[in-house]
Amino acid sequence: MESQNISYWNKTGEKTSYPALDRDMETDILIIGGGITGITCAYCLALKGLRPVLIEAGELCDGTTGNTTGKVTIQHGIIYSNIERKHGEEAASLYAQSQNSALNFVRETVRRESIDCQLMENTAYVYASTIKDKTSVEEEYEAARRLGIDAELIIKPGFPTGNFGMLGFKNQLVFHSVRYVSALAKAAVSKGTKIYCSTKAIKVEDEDVKTVHCENGITIRARHLVMATQYPIYDGPNLFFARLYAKRSYGVAVRPKRNWPDGSFINTGEPTRSIRAHVENGDRVLIVVGENHPTGRGDEDMESHYQKLITFASEIAGVDEVLAKWSAQDYDTPDQIPYIGRISDNNNIYVASGYGKWGLSNGTLAGNMISDLISTGSCDYEGLYSRTRSDILTSPLKTITEVFTPIGELIKSKLEGTEDLSGLERGEGRVIRFEGQKAGIYRDFDDRVTILDITCTHMKTELNFNSAEKTWDCPAHGGRFNTEGKLLEGPPKHNLELLYQGKFSDLIDG
Ligand SMILES: Cc1cc2nc3c(=O)[nH]c(=O)nc-3n(C[C@H](O)[C@H](O)[C@H](O)COP(=O)(O)OP(=O)(O)OC[C@H]3O[C@@H](n4cnc5c(N)ncnc54)[C@H](O)[C@@H]3O)c2cc1C
Repeated sequence: MESQNISYWNKTGEKTSYPALDRDMETDILIIGGGITGITCAYCLALKGLRPVLIEAGELCDGTTGNTTGKVTIQHGIIYSNIERKHGEEAASLYAQSQNSALNFVRETVRRESIDCQLMENTAYVYASTIKDKTSVEEEYEAARRLGIDAELIIKPGFPTGNFGMLGFKNQLVFHSVRYVSALAKAAVSKGTKIYCSTKAIKVEDEDVKTVHCENGITIRARHLVMATQYPIYDGPNLFFARLYAKRSYGVAVRPKRNWPDGSFINTGEPTRSIRAHVENGDRVLIVVGENHPTGRGDEDMESHYQKLITFASEIAGVDEVLAKWSAQDYDTPDQIPYIGRISDNNNIYVASGYGKWGLSNGTLAGNMISDLISTGSCDYEGLYSRTRSDILTSPLKTITEVFTPIGELIKSKLEGTEDLSGLERGEGRVIRFEGQKAGIYRDFDDRVTILDITCTHMKTELNFNSAEKTWDCPAHGGRFNTEGKLLEGPPKHNLELLYQGKFSDLIDG
């Protein structure tokens, strides 16, 4: 069977369909992207009496927002001690305040709009899964105390097993991300927002009035342009391609055999294990997410990531049934702080990216910040999240090992070898040489093969095959394509070139 992975949230959430845009349009504010960032921004603007237009390439929550763990928390693993070290205590304090404001916005909005999204309060824990990580958890506790966060340190926790100390932040949230965002979209529409799905932006002209060209030939002109697309579709002067790096993570939802202690949990170090409970129709569902790796650079057998998560779920609560499995990606920055705000001084194009897998709070914050920037010209926390802060200079280790790795990939992948066709199984993809050039082949379950030019259409990096998702993934900036070469997500704007399609036997015989 072809890969049909779909997240628990997309499987159980009820999505409203919005029509595609079918005519040229002028608007004051255009938002691109229908995840939590774009929809929150639209809702906040609509609350202020403004009338934004939002376009989305697919359906709402098709991006990472539909594929999360569903934790809305200011507990972002080990972060406050790191921000203190890099940017000082005031910056760490502002980070905590800003994230808290996002949680309060979610609480207040769920109440105001009567949103049924299984919002629950709990304690969010980060635990040391090796003795070596114990110190970083203790340092994080000290930083949290200095910042006035309501935190507890548990020295000998009984859960999860293999836990060398655990820090908990009280009064945090979990919710069903698709139900929350879908309801927020409906509320925004009822207040005057226009939403168009199946409408993909492919080019931005950055003049006083911004012109956005869409894949279907439509153009939209707007005075303000919000890029809520995860990876910004227009770079401006920021070199985002060297400052944002994509990480892929995997998730499973299971029906557990037994109960486990309340709370959300995430470990420090690798492999990541992020756990929470969700309650659906009175039944507890266990969500386990983890197995992070840079996109396009995972293990050979990606399917094994799911198996490892299921094994972990079995260890902590037993597994009666696997309800869903999925994977998704998010972007990291060198100093763990996202970029939120104008892309350059006095420019009405806005960016919101680099959430480091904490975008349910960060995307909520970004939606609020950008709506304030548009409506009043300024916002709280602008300096902390500014793209002009000295993020790379303050993080030499990350810069070398992770930020510059994508650039290395641009060169390295062109030099790597290829395989021949022998033993190519159904459902397998690999890199071959075809008519004198490097190409990607995929053999489907009907014995048809598709050969593609696997040079990424973004910055010419060679793509790698992802065997879990049956996709071609870019190791540099996270662009992803299906086995037909159709662009699925990330910064590229075009599909891959098709080189050959036909029966596998014809190819072998020929
Ligand atoms: C496995 C996993 C688990 C996570 N769990 C959590 C969690 O528990 N808590 C937490 O806080 N964070 C979590 N995160 C991170 C969080 O989910 C993301 O940071 C957040 O959802 C990003 O929201 P967004 O709206 O910015 O982007 P997205 O949700 O990706 O939305 C962007 C939208 O833009 C659209 N788009 C892109 N390009 C174009 C274009 N050219 N034209 C039109 N539309 C376009 C896409 O189709 C997409 O729908 C997790 C991430 C992963 C990978």
